[in-house]
Amino acid sequence: MSKQRRPLIAGNWKMNGLAGSAAPELQELVKRAGEHSDPACDILICPPATLIDKMAGLAKGSAVKIGGQDCHANESGAHTGDISAEMLKDTGADYCIVGHSERRADHGESNAVVKAKAEAALRAGLTAIVCVGETLAEREGDKTLDVISDQVRNSLPEGATAGNTVIAYEPVWAIGTGKTPTPEDVAVVHAHIRKELGSLMGDSEAVRVLYGGSVKGSNAAELMAVENVDGALVGGASLKASDFWPIVETSI
Ligand code: PEP
Repeated sequence: MSKQRRPLIAGNWKMNGLAGSAAPELQELVKRAGEHSDPACDILICPPATLIDKMAGLAKGSAVKIGGQDCHANESGAHTGDISAEMLKDTGADYCIVGHSERRADHGESNAVVKAKAEAALRAGLTAIVCVGETLAEREGDKTLDVISDQVRNSLPEGATAGNTVIAYEPVWAIGTGKTPTPEDVAVVHAHIRKELGSLMGDSEAVRVLYGGSVKGSNAAELMAVENVDGALVGGASLKASDFWPIVETSI
């Protein structure tokens, strides 16, 4: 992990959590974070949209930030069921994940759509976490770096800076499967992403690139130690504070 880049340990609760069960987990996280007067990493939880307001209230004044999992590209309008980046900001979010592979797959989101959503996040004053990652077929077909290049080049928002944009490398085949790439494989992809960012943004040294895909307490230290890995995006192991905290502890 680079000293130049402050790590971000982010949890993605996906479509999990009701107010009654989620609140104690968030409160426990806030309590543990509060035991560190000067945390060395950023901590983020992205709950379902229904819980952002409540979780942001519980996290207020703490080191734990709250984010959305997706946003619409437009500020407002006739888009039944959608939520704009401005609405996320209004309800207490500071970040928004865009282009998660589950949205790319389940909702057919193209790079162009992801880019528009990332730009909406920036417009609203949110930090965009832009997800990229190859499928198993793409990895086995030796296409990983080409796929990553295509996604980074075409999903990166206009106006991206180290302050408003984070990249999350999440191999699709590693999400929720318990499988992870080797640290060597992670290093290759992260170095490649940094090179791509350099050619797109000029100075990209300060941009954080997270790893995501079956991160848990037992493998987090090894993954966070890989060069150019600046934190984690965590799904399943972020739902319980007792599972998430050991991941945070690798960087705090
Ligand atoms: C994710 O969905 O962003 C993710 C990384 O999930 P998991 O940690 O459960 O593999």
